Amino acid sequence: MKKRFLFFFLFIFIHVFPAFSQEAKYIFYLIGDGMGLNQVNLTEIHRAEIENRNSTVPLVFTQFPHVGFASTNSLSNGVTDSGAGGTALAVGKKTKNGVIGMDSTGTIPYKSIAYAAKEKGKKVGIITSVSIDHATPAAFYAHQPNRNMYYEIGKEIIQSNFDFFGGSNFLKPETAVDKKTVPSLFPMFEKAGYKVLKGKEAYAKHPNKSDKIILMNNDGTAKEALKYAIDQEPNDFKLADITSAAINSLQQNSTDGFFLMIEGGKIDWACHANDAATTIQEVLDFNSAAELVYDFYKKHPDETLIVVTADHETGGLGIGNGSSTLQTKLLSHQKVSHTELSRAVGNLRKNNAKASWEDLKSLLSVHTGLFAGIEVNETDNKALHDAYQKSFVDHQNETAKSLYANDDKIAALSIAILNRMGSIAWASNNHSAAYAPVYAIGTGAELFNQKMDNTDIPKKIAIAAKLNLD
Ligand SMILES: [Zn+2]
Repeated sequence: MKKRFLFFFLFIFIHVFPAFSQEAKYIFYLIGDGMGLNQVNLTEIHRAEIENRNSTVPLVFTQFPHVGFASTNSLSNGVTDSGAGGTALAVGKKTKNGVIGMDSTGTIPYKSIAYAAKEKGKKVGIITSVSIDHATPAAFYAHQPNRNMYYEIGKEIIQSNFDFFGGSNFLKPETAVDKKTVPSLFPMFEKAGYKVLKGKEAYAKHPNKSDKIILMNNDGTAKEALKYAIDQEPNDFKLADITSAAINSLQQNSTDGFFLMIEGGKIDWACHANDAATTIQEVLDFNSAAELVYDFYKKHPDETLIVVTADHETGGLGIGNGSSTLQTKLLSHQKVSHTELSRAVGNLRKNNAKASWEDLKSLLSVHTGLFAGIEVNETDNKALHDAYQKSFVDHQNETAKSLYANDDKIAALSIAILNRMGSIAWASNNHSAAYAPVYAIGTGAELFNQKMDNTDIPKKIAIAAKLNLD
C-alpha cells in the first residue's frame, strides 16, 4: 500500500506538476493576413504539383502537432476587416470593423497580449511585411477609433515602449487624420530612445543590438509594403530579414523572455486582387519567417510557444473549379505579381503608341505563359483582344480597382484567365467569413487543439505564458 502511494506521488511529481509549472518564456504569434485554410492548402498542393505529384508538400507550420480553427466574425459584421480581426487576435475582445484596440464606440482602450507580455518583463517585437502602422500590427500597440488614423497609430509606438518594430515604413509620418501637416514621427521616435534603421545592412552594422529599434526598408522603396515575394530580387528586404533581426535583437538581455508578433501582410493584398500565383509566393514568404521561428523553437523547446493563424480569409478562394484534375501547376507560368504585370502593360501602352496586339501577346506570354506555354481558347482570346482594342486603341477602360491596387484591366483579365485555367475560383475581391486555421507547437500548444473563437487565441496564449490580459 505504502509503495503504491509513493508511486502515485512520484507520478504526480513527474507528469502533472511540470505541466502546471511550465510557462512559455518565448512567444511567437504569427498572423497571415487573409491566410485562410485554402491559401495554405493551395500552396501545399501547388508545391506537389510542380513536382508532378498528386499530393501536398507541407509548410513548416502545418506540421505542428496541435491544430484548430477559429471563427472570425467581428462585433459589427459577419465578415471582419483587419482592424477588428487584429483587435480580436491582440486583445481577446471583439470590436466594430475599422477599430484598432478599442471598444466599438472608440472610447475604451483595450490591453493587448503584447502589453501583457511587456508588463511581465518580456521584451516585445511587432513586425510585418507591410507598413508598421497598418491594421494588424497596430492592434497590438495602438488604440484608435479608426484604422486610417495612421499618424496617430504610429505615434503610439512611443507610449508602448516596445523593443522592436519592423516593416516597410510608415504611411503618414507627417500627416494627421485631419490632413494637417504635423511634426514628423521620426525625430519623436529618436527622442524616445528608438534607433530608426533602414535595411538589413543597417541592422547588421548597428553596434548595440539591444537598443530599442525600428527597422524599415531602405530609402527610395515603397512606404506601403515590402515588394511582393514573387517580384523580389535576392537582395531585396524581406519579412525573413526582419524576423531574423527581431529574434536576434529581442534575445539580448531577455532574462524574462520575449513576445514577437509577425504578420505576413500581403497574402491579403494578393487575394484582394484574386492573384493566386502571387498568393502562393506570399504564403511561402510567410513560411520562411516561420522556419526561422521554428529554428529558435528547436533550441528552446521547453520554453517556447509558437502560434500561427490568420485574421480572416480573403477572396473566398476555391481550389478546383469544375474538373477533378487540378491544374494549379499552370500558375507557375506567372512570373510577376498583378502589380508588376499592370506596370508592364501600362508601360507598353505609354511608351509605344503603336503597340500592336502581337506586342501585347508577347508581353503576356513572357509574364503569364498565356499564348506560350498555355494555350488561350477562342473566348478568352476575344476577351483579351477586345480589352486591347478598348484600352490601347480607344484609350478607354484602362484600369480595374481592388482594395490595395488599381490594376490595368488587361493585366487583371489575364490573371483571371490564368487562375481559372489553374483550377482556381474566387468568390469575391473581399474578405470572407471562412474559419481561420490555427497551428501551435511548444509550451501550452495543446490549448489550441479545438474549435475556438478568434478572441480565444490571445486568452490561450495568456494562459500558456501566465500573462494577465485583463
Ligand atoms: Zn484585407
